[in-house]
Amino acid sequence: MNDCLFCKIVREEIPSEQVIETTNYVAFKDIHPKAPVHVLIVPKRHVERPEELRPDEISDMLTGSEEIAEILGVKEPGYRLVFNVGKSAGQEINHVHMHLLGGAPAKSIY
Ligand code: AMP
Repeated sequence: MNDCLFCKIVREEIPSEQVIETTNYVAFKDIHPKAPVHVLIVPKRHVERPEELRPDEISDMLTGSEEIAEILGVKEPGYRLVFNVGKSAGQEINHVHMHLLGGAPAKSIY
């Protein structure tokens, strides 16, 4: 058993506000939301970088993002999907995860 926070959420040792779950990932609400809708889509397998994800995991996470956007009412007018990769990009948790952000116009330098 590793000590990773997101692995503990996947194993349900730490509670989360889960939105959906598949064999490949769990999606739960971010504890410090940066937008009215802020969900983290987290592969169950502990990998640290997006390029380590398997094609079936990536495909499942992307299909799931659309489903989550629909469930939470942001499919229209739209939402943002983000991977933070590395410290400079703001990655805090070393278990790869995709952010789904929506519910307000995106404001960003990018
Ligand atoms: P990142 O900065 O890309 O590594 O994103 C990590 C995200 O995890 C941040 O947006 C945090 O607010 C979020 N987070 C940290 N702890 C928890 C938790 N226990 N439950 C839900 N989200 C969390």
